Amino acid sequence: MQGYILKITKVKDEDLIVEILTPNSMIKTYRFYGARHSKITQGYKIDFEINESINFLPTLVNTMHLGYSWLLDREKLLYWQGFIRLMHSHLKDLNEVDSIYFQTLDECANKINLQNPKRLFLESYVKILEFEGRLPNLEFCFLCDEEISGDKVALARAFLPAHERCLNKTGFEISKISEFLNLASTINLEDFEVDSLYQILTLGL
Ligand SMILES: [Zn+2]
Repeated sequence: MQGYILKITKVKDEDLIVEILTPNSMIKTYRFYGARHSKITQGYKIDFEINESINFLPTLVNTMHLGYSWLLDREKLLYWQGFIRLMHSHLKDLNEVDSIYFQTLDECANKINLQNPKRLFLESYVKILEFEGRLPNLEFCFLCDEEISGDKVALARAFLPAHERCLNKTGFEISKISEFLNLASTINLEDFEVDSLYQILTLGL
């Protein structure tokens, strides 16, 4: 089967615990150290097999790296691994998962070569929020429950909307954020706005 390596944890004698996102599941596997293994890294897409074990984690075997040319681009790789870490925190306690997460990574892996990674991951995140029914309503401040009037909205983690004074942060133009969330598009956002939104994304999915 195929999956994305969301996390690698070193254990004794260079053995590894490898957490993998497949189209329908999160699998925690154990990889015994051995010279014949191909190198694996967080964020890699791999083809693999597992040997089930009755009283231990399944063993990861026959891994093959399904490479992308942009993996050689250090900057893109760092953004990619940042998003992979966020994805791991978001999914780590689940066994079965919806295919949207795997599909999102596939889509990002195919597009990151040509697109700005911050814009790409922001747009992908909005699609995830929409799928999870967490797309925020910009009308009310999540801190004081009062209406947000005026043309500015401050945003917290998961783009929860607030008054600038309640969150004590500089706001965004509400019309631009509304378009960003409704269309999952950053096309009309300036780079400084993308930078600020990306900072919020790094707080967690
Ligand atoms: Zn408020």
